[in-house]
Amino acid sequence: MATTSNKAGKSAKKAAVPARKASSPKFVYYFGAGKAEGRADDKNLLGGKGANLAEMCRIGLPVPAGFTISTECCVEYFTLGGKYPKSLEAEVKAALLKTEATMGRQFGDPENPLLVSCRSGARKSMPGMMETVLNVGLCSATIPGLIKKTKNARFVYDAYRRLIMMYSDVVMEKAEGIEPAEGKGIRKQLDDMLHQVKVKKGYKSDTDLSEGDLKELAVKFKARVKELLGKEFPDDPMQQLWGGVGAVFKSWNGKRAISYRRIEGIPDEWGTAVNVQAMVFGNMGDSSATGVAFSRNPATGDHHFYGEWLVNAQGEDVVAGIRTPSPLNEATKNEQNKQFVSLEKGMPVVYKELDGYQKKLEKHYKDMQDIEFTIQEGRLWMLQCRVGKRTGVAALNMAMDMLKEKLIDAKTAVMRVAPAQLDELLHPILDPAAEKAGKVIAKGLPAGPGGAVGQIVFTAADAVEWAKTGKKVLLVREETNPEDVEGMRAAKGILTARGGMTSHAALVARGWGKCCIVGCGSLHIDVHAKTMTAGGSIYKEGDTLSLNGSKGHVYEGGLNTVDATENPRFQEYMKLVDKFRTMGVRTNADTPEDARVARAFGAEGIGLFRTEHMFYGKGADEPLAKLRKMILSKSLEERKAALGELFPYVKRDVKATMEAMDGLPVTFRLLDPPLHEFVPQSPDKQAELASELGISVEDIRKRGEALHEMNPMMGHRGVRLGVTYPEVSEMQFRAILEAAAELIKAGKKAIPEIMVPVTCCVKELDDQKKIFDKVSAEVAAAFGKKVPCLYGTMIEIPRASLTADQMAQTAEFFSFGTNDLTQMTFGFSRDDIGGFMGDYIDKKILAADPFQTIDQRGVGEMIKVGIERGRKTRPNLKIGICGEHGGEPESVKFCFKVKMNYVSCSPYRVPIARLGAALAAIAAI
Ligand code: ADP
Ligand code: MG
Ligand code: MG
Repeated sequence: MATTSNKAGKSAKKAAVPARKASSPKFVYYFGAGKAEGRADDKNLLGGKGANLAEMCRIGLPVPAGFTISTECCVEYFTLGGKYPKSLEAEVKAALLKTEATMGRQFGDPENPLLVSCRSGARKSMPGMMETVLNVGLCSATIPGLIKKTKNARFVYDAYRRLIMMYSDVVMEKAEGIEPAEGKGIRKQLDDMLHQVKVKKGYKSDTDLSEGDLKELAVKFKARVKELLGKEFPDDPMQQLWGGVGAVFKSWNGKRAISYRRIEGIPDEWGTAVNVQAMVFGNMGDSSATGVAFSRNPATGDHHFYGEWLVNAQGEDVVAGIRTPSPLNEATKNEQNKQFVSLEKGMPVVYKELDGYQKKLEKHYKDMQDIEFTIQEGRLWMLQCRVGKRTGVAALNMAMDMLKEKLIDAKTAVMRVAPAQLDELLHPILDPAAEKAGKVIAKGLPAGPGGAVGQIVFTAADAVEWAKTGKKVLLVREETNPEDVEGMRAAKGILTARGGMTSHAALVARGWGKCCIVGCGSLHIDVHAKTMTAGGSIYKEGDTLSLNGSKGHVYEGGLNTVDATENPRFQEYMKLVDKFRTMGVRTNADTPEDARVARAFGAEGIGLFRTEHMFYGKGADEPLAKLRKMILSKSLEERKAALGELFPYVKRDVKATMEAMDGLPVTFRLLDPPLHEFVPQSPDKQAELASELGISVEDIRKRGEALHEMNPMMGHRGVRLGVTYPEVSEMQFRAILEAAAELIKAGKKAIPEIMVPVTCCVKELDDQKKIFDKVSAEVAAAFGKKVPCLYGTMIEIPRASLTADQMAQTAEFFSFGTNDLTQMTFGFSRDDIGGFMGDYIDKKILAADPFQTIDQRGVGEMIKVGIERGRKTRPNLKIGICGEHGGEPESVKFCFKVKMNYVSCSPYRVPIARLGAALAAIAAI
């Protein structure tokens, strides 16, 4: 898997050799009371949640007892066509007995019943993608006993109505593959019923519902379930338990879990584990609570214990954004929650205990922890811990802080920022000056970093549709839920009216480093009318807004954005990165401005300067006119005259770029595209040129038509132009060498390299080399000194790679042009893959788009062959890459493995390539 992280890759190997004997498969792993059969390293087998629950038990944290049914069992379940392996039932029964003994309660017991949760948990966390059912085991037989035991009937009926809501949704609807229309799902319907009771009775919060309300609701809920789903809500604890287990397994193949896996590159074969765990209750009254916390701030990296909690609530409530949660402590209060009581103030003893655990966990795992906890009548229970997702900014700050704290070493610090997160750091923020002048229409919580500007849409489907047409959109939702992921992905930014910093939207956005503001309480959204009201104005679908996800401010209109690279922390980190990096990083730059940006990002040279760039865009008019004249010349004399006029432009550009690179090497590629691309199409340009050449417009048109090709990508271009028109190459050689000679004469440094494109045999290189040598000698004579200049080629045609031993007889360096090499190796037109690439990925014919990440098996082999054969002829042959792949982390890793000297990529990807190269070097240590 290209997208699998290092860590997962390593542990995947471990899982291939399971410790258990094949003859007696063990599917169930117990944990509880300071002991556990699993441990943190068992993530592949037990899923992240199960492995960490086991580990927390081992290190002595209070974890409700339970057991984990392994991912292998899930895989087996699907292999058996949706049936449990035979041995599972006995194993579950045995583990349940142990759990009962530890907790001092029995599952299904009318006097003293144990309730459990069935929790999903895959190897890699997939926030909210899969299912969890709480309060399993509550039924007509156990309700009276639990009421007697807890003396809290309100609590019991609250737990029961929650069970009905979750179970009917997860087990009876989703797991059965029922796909209700938008807003018609059972959960939504039951939610609406609950809401109606609140409205009727004038309640503000769920906690206002009385025992009687809840009891009545449970009856109505069950009736609605029967009516809608055609089945009785199960009243048998064991039936509930197995229903829960099966539903968790099935949720692995739920629609949204699958689409999340596609986005994150998680293999379908992994499966999920099921954690069956004794329930503890945060909804038993005002000395009970539940919360989510991070050992450091996941948005900024701030070293403060950070989180949210809700009194008298059950797990889900915080994440679901149903009530606005309270702040964990005084230090991290914000605009929205400052009026609420913090856990630190409200339950100081429990807070202190929790604070101790978060410190212990961070020390143990040596990384920021994301923690779930529940307080049952003043007693603290830990329900989950995992390495917390974070923004790029937070990743950078935490890495550098933890290094200073000596919690981690330099190597680990480098590895703590993923290349994609670095990308995020290089992304724009709203221009602070524009913000000062801008109109803030709403404030919410800063849930995802950076700035985003876009047109607002109100449904995930619209976000996807609009983005497809190239529009930049902001997805505005009441709150997001897992069904919205694709829309969230497609949007530039996300804005929600509800939810806290640990709500679904916030979690997902942070994971992706996407700009996101949640809990904008003053927004009024009307999904049906597709409008929202904020700051006294109404905004319609398509209106443009700007978000500052680091502050939580929403602005009217589109503000300017700026880059965020002048951060000293970033510089410091990159220095550390370079300590481990051994492979060079250059940039693809065609203008002095690009060159300067890339240098600032740490580029060590230019790996690709496209000569033709000067004929496009700003300031291109004059040189383009000369080029056109050259192209449409009929005779050698005409052409030479035109080339003479073009020469100063080429030389000026080349010189400015070498000057900007100040002594770093610059690889100039000779004119590459087919000439017809430059033939004037508009009548007035044609007329202009006609008068300059002294021929008729009709003649111009005819000459243009003569250049027409059936297949220009493989037509008269690259070195082939130089072969037919040696004077074109000669002009370029002279421009480059004279520019360098003049710089050197002026006491500056210039290191040009000349790269011949689209070659397929060494004779082409020899042919052009003769011209090069002649010009080189002439320039040397004129300046009294030879300009040192490597002569090399771009390897982008399979034949060039296969004959690399010959190519290297003349070429002093190779640069793999992997865009064209991919095109020609696959026979995929890079401009036309849109029509089928999606299907190839969906049907898993290809794992990834080979134009984005190098196809190591095929194109990679072509590269390896080229390198081996080339270096056989010329052992010190310098080798680089200059395709788009040069800035893609997985491809960079590959380049390191095949021993390239450098990668070259676009200026903004230079830091990513530097990190990619460092990570590759670290992995090889
Ligand atoms: P997710 O992976 O979506 O976070 P979880 O399995 O962690 O799902 O459970 C959802 C919520 O229910 C969490 O807040 C969790 O803490 C809570 N929860 C799960 N199991 C229990 C339990 N045994 N007792 C109390 N709360 C629980
Ligand atoms: Mg959880
Ligand atoms: Mg090419």
